[in-house]
Amino acid sequence: MNATAPQRSLIIIGAGIAGLSAGVYAQMNGYHTRIYEMHNQAGGLCTAWKRKGYTVDGCIHWLVGSSPQDAFYPLWEEVGLIQGRQFIYQEELMRYASRGGREFIFYTDLDRLEAHLLELAPEDAALIRTFIADTRRMMHMKNAPGEPPELRTLFDNLKGMAEMLPLMGVFRRWGGMDLSGFAKKFANPFLREVFGNILYPNFSLMALMVVMVWLHKKAAGYPLGGSLPMAQAVESRFRQLGGEIHYNARVKKILVENDQAVGVLLENGQEERADDIISAADGHATLFEMLDGRYVDDSLAAFYRSAPLFPPIMYIGMGVNRRMDDVPHSVSGTMLALDQPITVAGQQVDHLDVHVFNFDPSLAPPGKTVMTVLFPTSYEYWKERYAEKERYDAEKQEAALAVVRALESRFAGLERDVEMIDVATPVTFERYTGNWKASWEGWMITPQTMMKRLPKRLPRLKNFWMIGQWVQPGGGLPTGVVHGRQIVQILCRRDGKPFTTSRP
Ligand SMILES: Cc1cc2nc3c(=O)[nH]c(=O)nc-3n(C[C@H](O)[C@H](O)[C@H](O)COP(=O)(O)OP(=O)(O)OC[C@H]3O[C@@H](n4cnc5c(N)ncnc54)[C@H](O)[C@@H]3O)c2cc1C
Repeated sequence: MNATAPQRSLIIIGAGIAGLSAGVYAQMNGYHTRIYEMHNQAGGLCTAWKRKGYTVDGCIHWLVGSSPQDAFYPLWEEVGLIQGRQFIYQEELMRYASRGGREFIFYTDLDRLEAHLLELAPEDAALIRTFIADTRRMMHMKNAPGEPPELRTLFDNLKGMAEMLPLMGVFRRWGGMDLSGFAKKFANPFLREVFGNILYPNFSLMALMVVMVWLHKKAAGYPLGGSLPMAQAVESRFRQLGGEIHYNARVKKILVENDQAVGVLLENGQEERADDIISAADGHATLFEMLDGRYVDDSLAAFYRSAPLFPPIMYIGMGVNRRMDDVPHSVSGTMLALDQPITVAGQQVDHLDVHVFNFDPSLAPPGKTVMTVLFPTSYEYWKERYAEKERYDAEKQEAALAVVRALESRFAGLERDVEMIDVATPVTFERYTGNWKASWEGWMITPQTMMKRLPKRLPRLKNFWMIGQWVQPGGGLPTGVVHGRQIVQILCRRDGKPFTTSRP
């Protein structure tokens, strides 16, 4: 690079983990970076909120790469997220509790899980043994993020394929299967019920196996203190490196001249210009609102028309005036089949995903506990209700009461002890993060989308890039940091300078 070349400027839309990470790497590599964020704080979906002395965490269950042995760990170090954080590793991923009171424990340790499955369903021994053996095989899968796909050579790709060869059998057996298909393979009715209900029916089984591997290896822990301090740590690294961040600054349009992105128009009418623009915000809004759909080719349009999303959810936080030490610690809590289904937003709800944060005392005042409950709901229903604010608020309240009442049989005395209830609807997710149809993790990771990567560049539009959960099905925090790093590697390559991860 020419040492006298002027510093190139960069605008990033969105201060979620993807946008913040891109900002950190960009500053490390000499790009003058400004982030515009519509909310009044950083984090996007990686967030938490305070209510009456309790902290309702809106995100983290497990952070992939929490162990120094994992390939993602150095990335978290580079963006400053992991330093000084204490992780805990649970023995249980989750439980499933049926109507009749039967429980399945999804252990994180594969040996324990296999023994438990065999005990519950000896008639499915062959299936169980193959499934667990294949999950163990996946432990040897390379998960290093490596070079951006856009910069990989033919040799890199061939090497990657060769590394996958030992896993071909695993891919053949399970690659095309989702959880509903897996559930149907069991002869045992209880395990059919379990795998049909623990996650989403169209969730890729292999994606679940990857999670099982990380948890088994203790490479994906829960960070004490939860989500927001992690986002704040990356924000602070970005600022220390000289990056600028502007809050309450919603981007309305991306300014384009001669098929080249040149800046952004903020909602307040202000125009900001830069050499490159990266959108780390919602994909649909970026493509169809900020760019008015002008740079969407047929294949991208088809994907946006047909690919499934993580469904919108109700997310209810509760402050409970007692310790709940009798509830086993768990990564994801319990999927509880309700004896009496409840009706919320005109839909019958027969399962609640209940998470008791008794393992993180920092989230509640001494002697008290935070619980969260989530379940899928209708985006359209809540969107319509939001137009009549009083009715919307009243229905939120009703939903919360119905949930607390429904939980009383499992947590006796809950109605009495709940002293804080906070209800987030799909409208809340949309208002605070802008995510399309309130999807809380972008595109659903199904057998069809699992290997899919959407383009980070758009045909015919120069100096514009997209990163984050809308570019890679399954989303998650690791996607954010990987994309943030990769996009700056791409910029450095284009600008003829070496990519660095040291502070300037
Ligand atoms: C309940 C729950 C549990 C989860 N559990 C985990 C977990 O255990 N592990 C894990 O890895 N992931 C988890 N996730 C997923 C993870 O939170 C997300 O995938 C990740 O945070 C997405 O990051 P992002 O930067 O791509 O997008 P976002 O976080 O959505 O960031 C986008 C940012 O852009 C901003 N923005 C949008 N539009 C505009 C605009 N027009 N102008 C300016 N700014 C704009 C938004 O306000 C937001 O800050 C969970 C999510 C939820 C909701």
